[in-house]
Amino acid sequence: MIYITGDVHSKNLLSWEHEGYGSNAKTSIRYLEILKKYGLSSTLFVNGICLDDEEKDIRKLLDFDVEFGGHTYDNFGNNKFNIFKSYINRKFFNCVYGPSFYQKNDIKKTRISFEKFGLKMSSWRTHAFGSSDKTFEILQENGVKYVSDLLGCTKPFCEKGIIHIPINIPVDQSTIAFGPILNTENRSPFAGCTKGRINPEEWLGIVLDRVHNNEKNGIPSVLLLHPATMAYIDNFRLFEKLIKSLSNYESAKISEFKL
Ligand SMILES: [Zn+2]
Repeated sequence: MIYITGDVHSKNLLSWEHEGYGSNAKTSIRYLEILKKYGLSSTLFVNGICLDDEEKDIRKLLDFDVEFGGHTYDNFGNNKFNIFKSYINRKFFNCVYGPSFYQKNDIKKTRISFEKFGLKMSSWRTHAFGSSDKTFEILQENGVKYVSDLLGCTKPFCEKGIIHIPINIPVDQSTIAFGPILNTENRSPFAGCTKGRINPEEWLGIVLDRVHNNEKNGIPSVLLLHPATMAYIDNFRLFEKLIKSLSNYESAKISEFKL
């Protein structure tokens, strides 16, 4: 079983994502069209602010076989100090997502944006995988049951009412080199953004190998493929190649996961 997930960020996020391809909401249409072509379903983790401010574009995504999960309200404040802020959060509050009072407010705001939109927020991924145990507790109080923001080969597990479904396939955005490969020493596919990077084709090979092995061993594969990254690399050519190869496998949405 494969679980294809993507993150949809607000159009105001100041980053390369929006410079050449417009909003993530618009980019996601192409993403979902390709998944539809190959008969695969997916989960998109969407910023609450997108449901409020880009309602028309976001509603179009629901014509496809997709479910929405929460992805914070606006990536911790939605401004150019994001990297600085996540550093401060980690240093002083021991959590990228920030102090508990902030998380409480942000998760509630996201839940309300889902409700106003007419959806129930039952799954979640914190932006930048910035959760702490406190985050999971607050999510549970807000009706979230499924969380997919741990990275690595830990098996899915249930803890304090939350089913954790870790991303066990190397993530596109933190693995692929955008441009020349500078660091040739650390080439771990789970390396962080500042460490080793590999070229897109090499990443594709690793992803397919891993999914194939997981299928052989009855292990679910959880992938994070960002619509913005797939647009940015080569306007979805690599994505279509990957999806075509995955189309032999059965797919499901995060909230369909059974332990
Ligand atoms: Zn994100």
